Amino acid sequence: MTVSEAAELTRRFSREALVKGIGEEGVRRLRSSRVAVIGCGALGSTEAELLARSGVGFIRVVDRDVVDYTNLHRTHMVGEADAEQGTPKATACRDGVINIDRSIKVEAIIDDVDSDNVEDIVRDVDIILDGTDNMETRFLINEAAVKHDKPWVYAGVNSWYGTVMFIEPGRGACLRCLMPEGFEGRQASCDVIPAIGTVTTMVGSIAANLAVRYLAGDRPEPGVLYSIDAREGSIEKIRVERNPQCPVCVMGRYDMLARRPALGLLTRVCGSEAFKLRLTADAPSPEELSSRLASRFSWLISRPNYVKVITKEGVTVTVLGRRVVVIEGAANEDEARKAYNEVAEAAGMPVLVDAAPRP
Ligand SMILES: [Zn+2]
Repeated sequence: MTVSEAAELTRRFSREALVKGIGEEGVRRLRSSRVAVIGCGALGSTEAELLARSGVGFIRVVDRDVVDYTNLHRTHMVGEADAEQGTPKATACRDGVINIDRSIKVEAIIDDVDSDNVEDIVRDVDIILDGTDNMETRFLINEAAVKHDKPWVYAGVNSWYGTVMFIEPGRGACLRCLMPEGFEGRQASCDVIPAIGTVTTMVGSIAANLAVRYLAGDRPEPGVLYSIDAREGSIEKIRVERNPQCPVCVMGRYDMLARRPALGLLTRVCGSEAFKLRLTADAPSPEELSSRLASRFSWLISRPNYVKVITKEGVTVTVLGRRVVVIEGAANEDEARKAYNEVAEAAGMPVLVDAAPRP
């Protein structure tokens, strides 16, 4: 850091430096910190925005989804133009962070988080924040965090209620200590989760606050579950004991990391009307894809990292990055497959026959 950069930091964060537990040293620590925010919806966008405003120097944001109108009532750093254009949430988060502070380094990853990439996402950061909306990814993050000895903040929201826990491997309970049944033992629910922006922001703020304290050197207590009831206006803190038999943080068994992601299968996205497909091979580049599709589809949007078209049946097909396809507006799996195949045939991508792709 140059002398003028140090002076600018002192000036910009002068109020933050006055906060007990942070100080000028905390501001400097935050500036040299690296964080990963996994999921950039309501929770993740709140966390990313607050970390950016707190002065964190590097933020990696990961999300495979695009912004739509149903996100606007609770998601930070997005607006109607993003919903109209279907901006990827990771891109919107990155642009929002840069708008707050141009000197922050931001890496936007438009991808599904699975056992193939989660370790790369977490291995070079100081802390991970949960901005996801499903337990499968959270159990996966927990294993990757414990394996690589990275602290992380678990956060979840449902209606007026929220839960947050700071997890530091080796110093208190992990997520699997809190939920010993693990992902396999849980009753999977794909219902749309009720959500209101006041509560997602409150919960995201508590999560970001724990991360800021950790990064600034004001160590929060690990393994304490915050249980938030926003309608009642109460926050209860519950100490979670470490499970001496925990398969993850005690035994070092990483079942979720060992599972291979399902390739070439259409799956319904929990909590939404969309279907998702992870391709078995890279799709053509967005430029190539849009030139191949332009003559077949009258409605097409192309950006550096995604291409989106609407079929004549009114189904939206978005190729995100080069491995993930999201199909929206299809009434069922058959319709989703048909819409994908229409795009795949025109683009020279593998066509889906029943549940498996034809090479
Ligand atoms: Zn554990």
